[in-house]
Amino acid sequence: MKNTKPEKEALAYQRKNFWKEAPLEEQKKAMEYAEPYINFLNQAKTERETVAYTVDLLLKNKFTPLSKKGSKKVYSIFRNKTMAVAVIGTDPVSNGFNMVAAHVDSPRVDLKQNPLYEDSNSAMGCMRTHYYGGIKKYQWVSTPLALHGVIIKNDGSTLNICLGENEDEPVFIIPDLLPHLAHKEQYTKNLGDAIDASKMNLVFSGMQEPYSDEKEAIKAYALKLLNEKYGITEQDFLSAELQLVPAHKARNCGFDNSMIVGYGQDDRISAYNALMALINNIPEKPKRTMVVYFSDKEEVGSQGSTGAHSIFIRDFISDLLAHNQEDNGSANLRKTFMNSQILSADVSAAIDPNYPNVHERQNAILFNYGIGINKFTGSGGKYGCNDANAEFLAKVLRIFNEAGIYWQLGELGKVDEGGGGTIAYILSNLGAEVLDCGVGLMGMHSLYELSSKADLYSTYLAYKAFLKAE
Ligand code: MN
Ligand code: MN
Repeated sequence: MKNTKPEKEALAYQRKNFWKEAPLEEQKKAMEYAEPYINFLNQAKTERETVAYTVDLLLKNKFTPLSKKGSKKVYSIFRNKTMAVAVIGTDPVSNGFNMVAAHVDSPRVDLKQNPLYEDSNSAMGCMRTHYYGGIKKYQWVSTPLALHGVIIKNDGSTLNICLGENEDEPVFIIPDLLPHLAHKEQYTKNLGDAIDASKMNLVFSGMQEPYSDEKEAIKAYALKLLNEKYGITEQDFLSAELQLVPAHKARNCGFDNSMIVGYGQDDRISAYNALMALINNIPEKPKRTMVVYFSDKEEVGSQGSTGAHSIFIRDFISDLLAHNQEDNGSANLRKTFMNSQILSADVSAAIDPNYPNVHERQNAILFNYGIGINKFTGSGGKYGCNDANAEFLAKVLRIFNEAGIYWQLGELGKVDEGGGGTIAYILSNLGAEVLDCGVGLMGMHSLYELSSKADLYSTYLAYKAFLKAE
């Protein structure tokens, strides 16, 4: 019997291109959805700023701190860098929750604890730095940087720093060596070694007190200005957390406006989508409890009290059980996690037209084909991976298909080409079903990460469908 065309299509799997197949109405929605997201990227460039932005939005949407009795829409923040949000379902929490888990830290360049010095060679005031996460160091020189972070003063008060974002504020720069003199110093070295981390010092200031013969007068003058502006002394830097992030704004990209370029989309594109999925169109009475979790320190291994390895998320779920008048003893907490299903919401690598060779196209993520799903992560023979169970992956695909989501499966590069991981394995160690999925980016970890509006929107719809699933 001769196959007719529709039957043939049903037999073979083919991913679908959003711009080719989606109704025009949906395409318009995808374009509109991107606008506030761009604004979010510009307002939340660090983990602390993302948490603050999120709490603001949650309060506007009638969420309360978890300590408020009787509330069904609750959140908890920890150390201002990590947080979890829940909408409690009609089923017991211990029947399991649906969670979307993202991270809110991004690669950047931190100031060292004792950063300020006067460089005698150049006669300039400078700041020493220590990069955070997997950056390509050459990208961070010769680019305007803004200073974000907190200084905790001696009296315990907190000073929030955000300098270099407004047009009328100064920015900072790590100057790169001019090509004329770079031959021995840079051109003969490997790309990874060409910029030495010890040479990523910020040119901070150049003035000094007029007519003064003071020793290190430039550094002294910088300290004087800092004291006048912020009321701080040099010692206040030693305990501070100060981060340099690209000073530029996220914006529309491409002749057709179909993309977004901006810093920190790994992983704030997932955080934003998860948040929107939770607060937009919450069902009156969801059956299963819905949770969104923002972790910190993912880019450096997820350790510490705010990383995904921390006790925080277990503690949150334990408190949630108690809040819902359920047993929150150790056994019931374990069972709750084991009954739960989680999307580890993190970005993936989409095929870059300049470097298709690092991927195997049939199993790689493409722009505009929707949310990218990684059954497993890891590297070199799936080493260190989380590997979603077939039963769970099939269930998620069923949820996505029923909701008409554009989705695709992919791996992070060719086998043995490299690899990477997310927080998925940490949460699956607690016994939950966990699947990695998120938006495919080009230029991940760069100052200008690129995403597709079709994938941004598809991923939002995917998280929404998953959170609501019964
Ligand atoms: Mn990530
Ligand atoms: Mn990353």
